[in-house]
Amino acid sequence: MTSDAESSIAEIVANDLCVGCGLCEALTGGRVKMVMTPAGSLRPSATDGFTRREEARLVAA
Ligand code: SF4
Repeated sequence: MTSDAESSIAEIVANDLCVGCGLCEALTGGRVKMVMTPAGSLRPSATDGFTRREEARLVAA
């Protein structure tokens, strides 16, 4: 989930635009895992754990 202002997964998560869809985990073959936050939301575990290509595909989705 993105807008023109976000160019990275870290920015998407930091701006509270991640809806926890799980595409991060699926696209990285489980290398980046979805984890439950203290607030009860699923978010990607490592926002710097993507290859440039993976991140570009996720940000474009
Ligand atoms: S693709 Fe990743 S960052 Fe974007 S909404 Fe889904 S889980 Fe959140």
